[in-house]
Amino acid sequence: MSIARSGRHAIVHERAPEVGGRFHDDFQGLENWTTARDVLDELASFGIEMDFDHAPFHETVVFDPAGRPHRYRSPKPLYYLVRRGSGPGTLDASLKAQALDCGVEIRFKDPKPHLPEGGIVAAGPRGADAIAVGYVFDTDAADATYGAVGDHLAPKGYAYLLVQGGLGTVAVCLFDDFHNERTSLERTVAFFQDRVGIDIMNPRRFGGTGNFTVPQTARRGCVLFAGEAAGFQDPLWGFGMRYAMVSGCLAARAALSGDLALYDRSWQSRLGGQLRRGIVNRYLYARFGDRGYAALLHLLDRAPDVRAQLRDYYGTSLAGRLLYPWAHHGIRSRRTESSV
Ligand SMILES: Cc1cc2nc3c(=O)[nH]c(=O)nc-3n(C[C@H](O)[C@H](O)[C@H](O)COP(=O)(O)OP(=O)(O)OC[C@H]3O[C@@H](n4cnc5c(N)ncnc54)[C@H](O)[C@@H]3O)c2cc1C
Repeated sequence: MSIARSGRHAIVHERAPEVGGRFHDDFQGLENWTTARDVLDELASFGIEMDFDHAPFHETVVFDPAGRPHRYRSPKPLYYLVRRGSGPGTLDASLKAQALDCGVEIRFKDPKPHLPEGGIVAAGPRGADAIAVGYVFDTDAADATYGAVGDHLAPKGYAYLLVQGGLGTVAVCLFDDFHNERTSLERTVAFFQDRVGIDIMNPRRFGGTGNFTVPQTARRGCVLFAGEAAGFQDPLWGFGMRYAMVSGCLAARAALSGDLALYDRSWQSRLGGQLRRGIVNRYLYARFGDRGYAALLHLLDRAPDVRAQLRDYYGTSLAGRLLYPWAHHGIRSRRTESSV
């Protein structure tokens, strides 16, 4: 969009016949805790209009490994629920409409192997460091969001139940033990039905993968890589939408400036610290297992402002910097290539 608005001819080559084909109308959380600035303000600063369905959530309940609920509230939204897929109201359909309005040409079923100078690759994950499987469903339940942690349910990951406006998503996000995904999902559904008493009508199954890394550079020759194609995603919990949109906009700015080296400087400055800290968080989270998840929730229980506390966990700190080489070494990305 930035490129088309500057008066240049922007072409998007999309492999699939439609946008959002990787998703199934499932809810995803647009996280709002890694910066003090609201995520919607940041997206607006890049010229993105919020005309997709987005519901702010100020409160969530997370169950610890022993099944005890922890309720977290925040005066500012902790996240915005958005829907992913091709249908009306989804983030994907909205971004497509906005791009077309700006004059972007979208060529569907057109995977282009070689891009010209200044081209931006945003082709999604290149491996599976995490997988998520779940159901989207209809429900009479009230709007609410829940999470659950525990290796019995979600090895090294977490489970979630998101309900908004009569639609629901229940899923488990695994960072280990992928071959037991079916069992983990069955346990997740049973767990939330037991704890929350959710009615699940007309369930439709979905699944997907994600990957993360901290690349040395997100540029190969004259081509820039954005979003998960570069490995940009929250290594701790897999929140990747914000990374994808922010990095895509920074790549476009660099391409427009004619200084492609600007891109590495700008993503490093905006996302680099957060990504490195995310690697440390992921390493510690996976290493300490159930005891660690319980300790994390306990710390959040005591925080006067849970959003600020989470932001702290993604901020740069001496401990984070010292632990990074060790954590980076300890985490092996399953990406097909370790850098772009
Ligand atoms: C089940 C699930 C739940 C998730 N939940 C959350 C969440 O709650 N919050 C959050 O922030 N993130 C979440 N994520 C992660 C988030 O969806 C991704 O990080 C984000 O969509 C990545 O955006 P992207 O633009 O890099 O890639 P994508 O959104 O995958 O888009 C890539 C596009 O490139 C196209 N493409 C692929 N190869 C080619 C090619 N060779 N040529 C042309 N086009 C190509 C694809 O068809 C696709 O349309 C979730 C992911 C999954 C799978």
